[in-house]
Amino acid sequence: MDVDRDEQEPDWVRCEGCAALVYGKRWVRNLRVCPDCGRHGRLTAAQRLAQLLDPGTAELLDGAAAVHDPLGFVDSRSYTERLDEARADTGLTEAVLCAAGLIEGQPAVLAVMDFRFLGGSLGCAVGALITQAAHTALARRVPLVMVTASGGARMQEGVLSLMQMAKTAQALAELDEAGILTVSVITDPTYGGVAASFATLADVIIAEPGARMGFAGPRVIEQTTGERLPEGFQTAEFLLEHGMVDDVVPRIGVRPVLGRLLGLRPPLAPSAPEAGSTEAILRAADELTDRDAWEGVRLARHPERPTTLDYVRRLVDDFQELHGDRLSEDCPAIVAGTGRVAGTSVMLIGHHKGGPDLGERRRRNFGMAAPSGYRKAARLMRLAAKLGLPVVTLIDTPGANPGPDAEEGGQAAAIAENLRLMARLPVPIVAVLIGEGGSGGALALAVADLVLVSANGIYSVISPEGCAAILWKDPQAAPTAADALRLHARDLLALGVVDGVVPEPPEGAHQDHAAAAGLLEAALVSALHELIPWDPQRLLADRRNRFHAFGAAAAAPAERSQP
Ligand SMILES: [Zn+2]
Repeated sequence: MDVDRDEQEPDWVRCEGCAALVYGKRWVRNLRVCPDCGRHGRLTAAQRLAQLLDPGTAELLDGAAAVHDPLGFVDSRSYTERLDEARADTGLTEAVLCAAGLIEGQPAVLAVMDFRFLGGSLGCAVGALITQAAHTALARRVPLVMVTASGGARMQEGVLSLMQMAKTAQALAELDEAGILTVSVITDPTYGGVAASFATLADVIIAEPGARMGFAGPRVIEQTTGERLPEGFQTAEFLLEHGMVDDVVPRIGVRPVLGRLLGLRPPLAPSAPEAGSTEAILRAADELTDRDAWEGVRLARHPERPTTLDYVRRLVDDFQELHGDRLSEDCPAIVAGTGRVAGTSVMLIGHHKGGPDLGERRRRNFGMAAPSGYRKAARLMRLAAKLGLPVVTLIDTPGANPGPDAEEGGQAAAIAENLRLMARLPVPIVAVLIGEGGSGGALALAVADLVLVSANGIYSVISPEGCAAILWKDPQAAPTAADALRLHARDLLALGVVDGVVPEPPEGAHQDHAAAAGLLEAALVSALHELIPWDPQRLLADRRNRFHAFGAAAAAPAERSQP
């Protein structure tokens, strides 16, 4: 089979979405996506491989060829007859085609399902081929990319078909233990046993627009419940909203997204530990301007202050945002994803307030995370640990979420889980309070090896307004409370709560986003250089000592080892 040459199409193709007639050559050029309605036409496995792999790099992996009919199954026809027919029709031996090759120059092993072959059903041979692809990825230490399309289990192989879910899940667990990236690309439709095993166990799940995925199909659900399902149920867009997939990516974008993910590399420790640049991070209180407490609070909250995404746009290369907690929803108040800071691959996670536009601020809930936001952060921190990537967090939140939904969603436990997870995460963590660091909502991203604060950032157990209302019984006393809480960079440095201060442009970060981003980048580079040579034991011991020391009389940072 030649996967490098795309197969011919008839002169005209009718779109199954809008019934438009599309010129065959245009249809192929457009990757079989309708130019009128955007519907993604179904691809064969060979067409998919041709689209994803760099030309001339495909190396097909040997497939299991023998006909396998463990039950001697016969319905209106025998299973062997059906298999023979599927083979003759598709030119494939089974419903998955596996190959190794390069995607945007990055090596990978691919397992691509083909829906034409008995509905992409998961039989013993498919399970074996997926497992074999995983083992090839393991042996070569390259990422595994799975493109799924399946109606579910293969009934003709009975309960042995069910066992393939466990077998493939096991293979993916081995890749988790070995720190090898797995990505699945969900195409229409992906149901049943495939959805409930390797498709959703991947580290990153991207879905083509409109692709449907679920365990039970919509017809089964409607017949069982007697209720009509809403429009768009189980589509990629629905799954994104419900936190089940990392992103919905049009076909034209799949290759670049895979290229970015496959290019992530754990940082190499320099042979001689490099001392961080001294100017990039201020470590002495007398280097900082003494500002009126209330004025400082107003600067930290300035609506034009750069947000997490402003910084990401300016200092993170090839940022790939990842969404969802794989449980309930995607929290818009926390953004997270992979990218490179001055050439170092990192997992970046931050609160995002939304910037000056009120509508966008509302949509982002003013940077106050839902429990799903903390869970998304936790999921991606675990992924960073698996891949050996440093974690960078940017903190900018008024605080935890004072609403009933957050309580129903288990906000307290979600924050607590992050504190424990970060305490033991075996990769470097740098946290920067870029604006407001409000209470537990801020700390949920701030259990780090190096905690920095922007020169006009604040960090506090409660908002000055909240403190004034409770202790002064007068919200007007907020400026007095702000002074008493000692929440500014100078105070935080003196208390040992932060390790250093990131300078800002003279008038504040809001006056010059580019300059502020340059200063933050320099600080991050310095912090990463300091931490990357540390082995996990030293990171964890020092992180433990850092937080253990708080409150012990006059102890604070003295117990920490010196960089
Ligand atoms: Zn169309």
